[in-house]
Amino acid sequence: MVQRMSRLLLKTLRDDPADAETASHKLLVRAGYVRRSSAGVWTWLPLGKRVLDNVARVVREEMDAIGGQEVLLPALLPREPYEATGRADAYGDLLFQLEDRRGARYVLGPTHEEIFTQLVKDQCSSYKDLPLILYQIQTKYRDEARPRSGVLRGREFQMKDAYSFDTSDEGLGEAYQAHRSAYIRVFERLGLDYRIVSAVSGAMGGSASEEFLAPAAAGEDTFVDCPACDYAANTEAVTAVVEPVTGAGHPPMEELATPATPTIETLAEHLGVPASATLKNLLVKVDGQITAVGVPGDREVDMGKLAEALAPAEVELVTAEDFTGRPDLVRGYVGPQGLAGKAFRYLADPRVAEGTAWITGANRADHHVRNVVCGRDFTVDEYLDVATVLPGDPCPSCGAGLTIGRAIEIGHIFQLGRKYADAFELDVLGREGKPVRVTMGSYGIGVSRAVAALAEQTHDESGLCWPREVAPADVHIVAAGKAQQTELALELAEKLGAGRVRVLVDDRAGVSAGVKFTDAELIGIPTILVVGRRAAEGVVELKDRRTGEREEISIDDALARLT
Ligand code: ATP
Ligand code: MG
Ligand code: MG
Ligand code: MG
Repeated sequence: MVQRMSRLLLKTLRDDPADAETASHKLLVRAGYVRRSSAGVWTWLPLGKRVLDNVARVVREEMDAIGGQEVLLPALLPREPYEATGRADAYGDLLFQLEDRRGARYVLGPTHEEIFTQLVKDQCSSYKDLPLILYQIQTKYRDEARPRSGVLRGREFQMKDAYSFDTSDEGLGEAYQAHRSAYIRVFERLGLDYRIVSAVSGAMGGSASEEFLAPAAAGEDTFVDCPACDYAANTEAVTAVVEPVTGAGHPPMEELATPATPTIETLAEHLGVPASATLKNLLVKVDGQITAVGVPGDREVDMGKLAEALAPAEVELVTAEDFTGRPDLVRGYVGPQGLAGKAFRYLADPRVAEGTAWITGANRADHHVRNVVCGRDFTVDEYLDVATVLPGDPCPSCGAGLTIGRAIEIGHIFQLGRKYADAFELDVLGREGKPVRVTMGSYGIGVSRAVAALAEQTHDESGLCWPREVAPADVHIVAAGKAQQTELALELAEKLGAGRVRVLVDDRAGVSAGVKFTDAELIGIPTILVVGRRAAEGVVELKDRRTGEREEISIDDALARLT
């Protein structure tokens, strides 16, 4: 396959897009792989579509290899099944919702457990129909609060979602292990560096769950990792973790006026939430003491219950003065609404995740604290006490010093058990002629996210740098100079293309060799073949994009090497 750059829909950019913070976002846009359509919604341009398809192909092959059957369900779905399982509420604002002309309510599928359960209920009636693995590669929709980082976190994105159906727990265990192995093969083939960590199941429900994390600074997950053994865990699944904030300074803050006599009502009004709202950790003063109010565990507090719980204590809003001379105190707390107990409400800040405290130490750098224990004064030292995992702490498995890092969640596997089968009464007739409740697993891979994760892990200062399995081509031929060289480049491209090599050939007229080289580095195809000055003598240059190694080689040898 030969693609001529003179005909390719591609406009490379010299400058980073203004709003881009992560390397993958910058480079995928600059190299012409994707183009922003609206917030968190992306157009895949020809080069990007090839990489996306390559990732999907690898996923498909490995899913087929464990006996998965590919289907394609709608993305436009009735809301009712998501109500039946309570997930319409659990997902809340994350769910894209719409109505048809008759007023019937629909959602754009965020994930499809409900719909697959219904499908199997409709199609399977006997234990003989199981076990079953179904999967799809499909566009998913989630109205993410902070769609950023390009295709890493889209509001429309590609996911492979698979579902297993079994009559026994052992069957589910086997399906889970089969997916786990398939995921290992997928991520190995893609050339991703990854860790498997135990995770919390979250909105999905169910018991056992593991995540596949790709270590990268741009990731939004924090994990502890042992350099000496294979212990690794998502910090959500362990305990409190203190991590230094990268980038200096506070999140932007908005001063709120303090009402004269604060009550729960004025407090609620102040924070811009209904008095009945459920809030996460909140800083207030109770009988003159700065206190965090919150329920350890789910760490949520109902405003009505708060009033009850605190009565007859006097509840006041925390003011800026309360912090004066107490630099060891937490300066604010970020909840789902991005709120803090007065004096400040932190505005949306990309560095602050939901349920994360931001603390300013006396002589320390700013820190984030996750999974805090609440209901106590918030001093830095106390925080450090409750933060039972710190960098260098002993690994629970082998005792070596743990490291804490950032990572991108690229896959997630769940043993759901019977949660969805119960909701839809999914039974099949068992061996003994009695109905048996089906047990399920669900298994996701972020296909479009994997493209960005690869870009994050493999790029260098010159641009993208794809592993061969996913690269948009095998060879990038650069015709550096005169028309004769372009002719030869096209000839070589045809020869290689005939041998099933995927070739991108830069045959653009009126573009300098320098610009072509820069673009080749930016685009990141693994092998660059330069048809330059010595082409007339039958000599070309081969360059390895990753190592930068180059060698002059005869045309015949180059052809032999590349086919
Ligand atoms: P995250 O924690 O990043 O929000 P999630 O835990 O909500 O992800 P899952 O419900 O486990 O995601 O979905 C399965 C996979 O889909 C994830 O492991 C991830 O790779 C991918 N994914 C989830 N949300 C997005 C998104 N907004 N954009 C791109 N990929 C996503
Ligand atoms: Mg999510
Ligand atoms: Mg997650
Ligand atoms: Mg997940």
